[in-house]
Order: sequence, then structure tokens, then C-alpha cells
Amino acid sequence: MILLLFGPPGCGKGTQAAHLAERFQIPAISTGEIFRAECKAGTELGRKACMIMSGGGLVGDDLVNRLVAARIARPDCAGGFLLDGYPRTVPQAKQFAAMLRERGLPDPMVIHLDVAEEALVVRLTARRQCPKCLRIYNVMWQAPRQPDRCDDDGEQLIMRDDDQEAVIRQRLAAYRALTGPVLGWYGEAAVRTVDGGLAPEEVARAVETAVLQTAAR
Ligand code: AMP
Repeated sequence: MILLLFGPPGCGKGTQAAHLAERFQIPAISTGEIFRAECKAGTELGRKACMIMSGGGLVGDDLVNRLVAARIARPDCAGGFLLDGYPRTVPQAKQFAAMLRERGLPDPMVIHLDVAEEALVVRLTARRQCPKCLRIYNVMWQAPRQPDRCDDDGEQLIMRDDDQEAVIRQRLAAYRALTGPVLGWYGEAAVRTVDGGLAPEEVARAVETAVLQTAAR
């Protein structure tokens, strides 16, 4: 089983990826996480990726494709895998299709978590952080005990720059501009769109049903 998970920032994709990985006993691979880890480790790849990521750009297709090819060749992927954050461009999608063909692997199942932009803006602007211990809160569902104060050290909580509404709208527009053509390349018939605006457990159930139905085809 090869799953590709698409969804805008703030849609709960990470939670669903973890749930699917557990449910189907496959590794969840996030290209963003791999780049962040390489960045931290200060490897050659990490240094390149760091520069690109901090400028808000995309890592080059060749580099990402090579990294994914190496990752999915590892033994833990023998029974399938889930990719989150890849493919992000049509050339990546084409190269990924070639990779699967070369290895005699099946076509991927494409799951698209769809959430209305307004709902995402509300969710994402609710995030707060303690500037001292960096603990994250959400005023909607993980509120601090005292309004705007960190439970651990009493610091005044702040809103991060990338959670400001204008920045969030920009991130959402960038996501739409990138993902639209990739989903278009897979074609409507191949993409299973799930309502990501429901409660996380309901989204998980709907995603699981979509995966099982696609697998049974
Ligand atoms: P993410 O955590 O998926 O938002 O990824 C964080 C950053 O990693 C992105 O902003 C890109 O700079 C880089 N990145 C992750 N996946 C890809 C990809 N498939 N193609 C190009 N760049 C990527």
C-alpha cells in the first residue's frame, strides 16, 4: 500500500499521517521532516536544504527525488509507505511514477484532506507560544490555565510571526498554487477527497474508509 497524503497547513495532516501509519503498519515519511533533521545534523544536504527552507523556497526536484528514492528503498518500506509533503510539483509526481514503475510497485492512493480556508485561518491563528520555554498552546482546544500566560513559567504567551493572518493566507495560497497542478496530474478519478473539517477521529474514520475502498477496487 502506497499512500500520498495531501492537505493544507493546519488541516491536521500530521495527526492523520500518524494514525494511518499505525493502522496500516507502514512508515509515514515526511520530506519536510527529513530536511529539518538533515539541517539540524549539519550535513551537506542539510546545509543546502536549510538555506532554501529559510528563504521559503522549495528544494530542487532532483535532490528531493533522489532522497525519496533512497528512503523508499529501505527495508521498512517493503510492505508499503505513506508520503507526506511529496510529490509537491508535477515533475516530482512524474519522477515518482517512474520510480514506482521501475520497482514494479503499484500506483499510489492519493488522499486529499480538504478544509475550508476560513476554518484553517481560525485554527492557525489560535496558536500561542511561550517565548521562554517554547511550549505551544492553542486558545481553542489547549488553552493555558490563565489567559495568555504559560502554565509552566507564567510568561506572557506570544503569537508567532508565521501564525499571523496575512502570513497564513499567503501560506495557504502557496499551497493551493503548488498542490492544485499535482492533484490535477493524478486526475479526479484517482484522488479521494476527504472532509478534513470534521473532528480528528471522524476524519481518521473517513480516511480509513477511503483507503480500504480504494484498496478493494
Ligand atoms: P513541510 O514540512 O512539508 O512544510 O516542508 C518544509 C520545507 O521543506 C518546505 O518548505 C520545502 O522547503 C522543503 N520541502 C519539503 N518537501 C519538499 C518537496 N517535496 N519538494 C521541495 N521541497 C520540499
